Order: sequence, then structure tokens, then C-alpha cells
Amino acid sequence: MTQRVYNFAPGPAVLPEPALEEAQRNLMALPGVGMSVLEISHRSAAFSEIIQGAERNLRTLLQIPEDYAVLFLQGGAKLQFGMVPMNFLRNTGARASYIVSGTWSKQAAAEAAGQGQVHVAWDGKATNYDRVPADDQLNIAPDSIYVYLCSNETIAGVQFPREPETNGIPLVCDASSELLSRPVDIRRYGILFACAQKNLGPAGVTVVIIRKDFLDRCPNDLPMMLNYRQLAEHNSLLNTPPVFAVYMVKLVTDWVLREFGDLQKLKEFNEKKAALLYDAIASCGGFYTVHAAPGSRSAMNIAFRLPNAETEKKFLAESRKVGLYNLEGHRSVGGCRASIYNAMPWEGVVALRDFMLQFYQANRDQVG
Ligand SMILES: *Cc1c(COP(=O)(O)O)cnc(C)c1O
Repeated sequence: MTQRVYNFAPGPAVLPEPALEEAQRNLMALPGVGMSVLEISHRSAAFSEIIQGAERNLRTLLQIPEDYAVLFLQGGAKLQFGMVPMNFLRNTGARASYIVSGTWSKQAAAEAAGQGQVHVAWDGKATNYDRVPADDQLNIAPDSIYVYLCSNETIAGVQFPREPETNGIPLVCDASSELLSRPVDIRRYGILFACAQKNLGPAGVTVVIIRKDFLDRCPNDLPMMLNYRQLAEHNSLLNTPPVFAVYMVKLVTDWVLREFGDLQKLKEFNEKKAALLYDAIASCGGFYTVHAAPGSRSAMNIAFRLPNAETEKKFLAESRKVGLYNLEGHRSVGGCRASIYNAMPWEGVVALRDFMLQFYQANRDQVG
């Protein structure tokens, strides 16, 4: 088999090897079924077991209460940017408050503004989206039907350390690049969604956790595939779901349960990995600079710069030579970024830390 490299991509991203191995072992025929998961009906007993198992695992890990539905949808996280306001703002006169902390929440607010009334509760532009707001900086419209946030801005590496205070208004959250990386108090949320390809599985499926009373408010005049209530009534099987992607979410969540047991353990592991890199950066006398301000630094995506573009290019070229891949920053911001999701092993982060320290030693004198 070709040697695997350490893949620091932001998404699609590294998956746990045991999950990939299990999928490989069972690709020709699922045990007891005799057909590949790629070939079975989405209405078969075998797939029912898979999708129910994935939901059960998510419910256990995230401690999702009974009055929340778990949906497996298509269209990615970006479809949720539009679906949420289509279902809850459009033609209602209601408004929602949006916290704009980076690229993804900005896009979500723009999509929502096309459907209904959006109030911007805070915008991080003044400091180039390097932090999340303190509670006393938030200007939430008191009549908001939800407060929107992106809990982890994947591009800039800016993460909320905890939920913002909203005086009881439910949160709607894009948790695409952090769901399952730490415990979360689901009760604070009306809707919590995440595309799978960061931390849950492969691209193609988006997990939506939605409080059931929100479902009752979905309008009847939407196309059925955009209507949460109809999707929930059909257990996400209103049409053919992405069977293989759902299967992988099942295997990935099996792995989380086996390997860590609960999300507190996984959180501690993720924080330990992130600290290894942030500490190394701090020890290099300003050679590396982190985009995110202290207190808002992500444990999942670490966006950093080197002294100049030329040195960044050299860093990226040399890192690949030692098997550390996809450390480029997002095309919109440049620089470098290490994404260290749940499935990034400790050894991968140690290898990156060692490379960063060694690259610093070798290049510190060439740059002023
Ligand atoms: C990747 C990402 C998205 C986009 O997800 P798609 O599935 O490509 O639509 C949205 N929000 C966040 C926070 C992301 O990390």
C-alpha cells in the first residue's frame, strides 16, 4: 500500500484509519448482507441499521435530548445558510441576529438577508476577524427568533471558547469544523449543523440537529427538499440519501466511542494537540505569527504566517518533503494553516511541531 502522509487539510480532511480500514474490508460485501454498501437500497434493513446507528452514536456523544431531531441532509453546510432563513425568516416579519466572526458567518448573514430581516449583532471586521466578541460587545435584537454564530471559523482559525450569552434566545450554529470535537450544551440551540467533511466523515452529508418545535414552524410553500419538517417526517429519506457518506459517519462515530468514550476526553486530546503547536509557535520569537487573538484561538484550525511570502513558500515546499501535506492557508487569505481535527493523530502533530522548530532554526537568520 502507498504510504499515507499526514494530511492537515481543512476539509475534506483526514479520517480515522480504523474507519477507513473497516470500509475497505467491507466494501465488496457488508457482513451478513452480501452486497456492497454502495449497492444497497436506502430503504433496506441494512441501511436502516446504518443510519439509525449513526444517529444513535451522535445522540450518545452529543447527549442530544429527545425533543431534538437529527437529520442527514445534502447540499453541504452552505445550503443551511439559505435553508435556515427560508424556513424561519421568509415572509414572517421576524428577524434574526447574526454574529459575523469571519468568512463563513459573513456568507451565512448575506444569504439570510436575501430571505428576511437580518440584524448584525457584531462584526469582527475592525480587527480583521481575529477574535470572537465578548458578551458585552454583542448587540442582539431582543425580538430575534434566533442568534446565529459560526462556532469555529475554519479559515481564520477563530473559535468561540463557549456559547455567547443570548438571554434565552436559541442559537443557530454552523459547527461544521468542530462538531464532535468537544462537548456542547445542545439545549442552548435551536439548530446546530455541520457538513461531514471536516470532523464527521466524507463530503456529501450534512448533520442537522434541530429542536422539534422549530419543525412546527416550517412553512408549507417550500419545495419539500428544503423543508425541515418534511425531511424530519421522512427520517431524512425523502429522497435517496448519500448512503456511503452516512455509512462513513457511522464508522467514524463508532471510532470516537471506542477510542475516547465521550467528548470530554476528545476535547482534552484536541486541546493537548493544539497547545503543542501554539506553544511551539510562541517559542520561536515572532518568526511564526498566529492570526487569531489569544482567547479566540481554535483547537481545530491553526492559521499562522511566516515572516514573508517567500519563506512561506519554502516552508510549504519543505513540509511536503517530510510528509506533512496541505498546510497552505485558504486561497482568500494565504499564509499557512494546520487543521488538526479529531482524526489527526498525536504523532502527526508532533511531526509538524518538530518540523516547525527545525525550520525556524534553519531560517531564522535569513529573515530580519
Ligand atoms: C467547510 C465549511 C463550510 C462549507 O461547507 P460545504 O459543505 O462545502 O457547504 C461552511 N461553514 C464552515 C464553518 C466550514 O468549515
